Amino acid sequence: MKLPIVKIPDPILRTKSLPVKKVTAELVLLAHHMLETMRASNGIGLAAPQIGRSIQLLVAGLSPTDDERESIPETILFNPRITKRSKLKTKLIEGCLSIPGLTGVVERSAAVTVTGLNAQGKSITMVAEGLHARVIQHEVDHLNGVLFTDRLVKYRVVFYGTSDFGQPALEGLIKHPQFDVVAVVTETDKPGGRGHRLIESPIKQCAVKNGMPIYQPSTLNTNHKDGWRAAEAVEFAHHLSGVSPDFQVVASYGKILPQPVLDVAAKANLNIHPSLLPKYRGATPIQSAILHGETKTGVCVMQMSAEMDAGPILSMYEYMILASETAGELTARLAKAAATQLISTLEDWIADKTDTWMQDETKATYTAKIGPETARIDWLLPPKNIVNHIRAMSPKPGAYTEINGQMVKILRAQLSDGAIMLGEILIPGKKPMSMTDLKNGYRTIHTHLKGLAQKKA
Ligand code: ZN
Repeated sequence: MKLPIVKIPDPILRTKSLPVKKVTAELVLLAHHMLETMRASNGIGLAAPQIGRSIQLLVAGLSPTDDERESIPETILFNPRITKRSKLKTKLIEGCLSIPGLTGVVERSAAVTVTGLNAQGKSITMVAEGLHARVIQHEVDHLNGVLFTDRLVKYRVVFYGTSDFGQPALEGLIKHPQFDVVAVVTETDKPGGRGHRLIESPIKQCAVKNGMPIYQPSTLNTNHKDGWRAAEAVEFAHHLSGVSPDFQVVASYGKILPQPVLDVAAKANLNIHPSLLPKYRGATPIQSAILHGETKTGVCVMQMSAEMDAGPILSMYEYMILASETAGELTARLAKAAATQLISTLEDWIADKTDTWMQDETKATYTAKIGPETARIDWLLPPKNIVNHIRAMSPKPGAYTEINGQMVKILRAQLSDGAIMLGEILIPGKKPMSMTDLKNGYRTIHTHLKGLAQKKA
């Protein structure tokens, strides 16, 4: 029978459980239901408070599989007491069925001696090692009202980001029980809204929503020629050393972090870069990969060095680029993947499980800045290149062409039997529209556009 699992913040998870006076048939049946519940939930241990019973009972077990994880003998233990703990400690990423979605690195004894009553009610003593020892310590904690999140060593993180690419990563760090985001650094607000209103970066908006301290220095260079700006950088450096971060994380921030800023982090400076490094270093890796017709790309988490995107890599994952995907869509997809990857890379770092490797400098390529001046469509190019150009420029700056002096942006296109099929069209100041809408509202532009696209068919 699968029992419902109690989740935080239920107070039973914070209550000390009562010892069992006698191992009855009812309690043994309960223990078997707990084992069934644990397995059905992909857990490896369960304590009675987690199914709503405040009694000293834990179960554990993991059958050997081809999975590299070690196995755990099936364990039913009433009134467990840890009588000895090894001095040797190990660090491992833990989760808990009562705290869904959260993980963290916990340091625990590598081996423990535990006494208690078994399913027959007999007093036993056992020595548990490895994963078995870890599970027993985790479950005994539950019986004392202690959760793994109480045992986490906290790390202070300063986050640097500006574009929406970094937003899921920032949100992941804020949500993570082991990281305290102590400052968010983002580019200064830029004019550009209607009536020259200042626009806050997506990262600033996310930081405001979460009540994070925000810094927006116009430069990080304390030796800047402009004395006012240099003073701003000095002030920021002062704040930064005040928050004394363990980690600094950068995700499309927009400025290079100078060495004195990098030196502040006690543990490491990590950068999330959406490409298969050393390919596509620089500011526009996603757009450039699409522009060059790549069918795969990736996300790297690397250690920062003073040289741009050249540091040793800590983790790299590959992703397919879909045939009709725009830069905006791919950015959103990679941003989510990058958030998960950043967290697991940081957890591996804390657990001393990172493997770094150097980039092959001879294979490095660099991306150029993409702006409105790069976005004009060259209709003389082969259809494939035109489609890639349109996908790479979408949604910003937006590939454009001019028809009778009117700027027309094309936000979506794909190849169909070697010909260009135009999708979303944008006439500045209007809402994006389909080719059918364009035909109904702007017949001349529609005819011209079709002609341009067809010429290459
Ligand atoms: Zn647990």
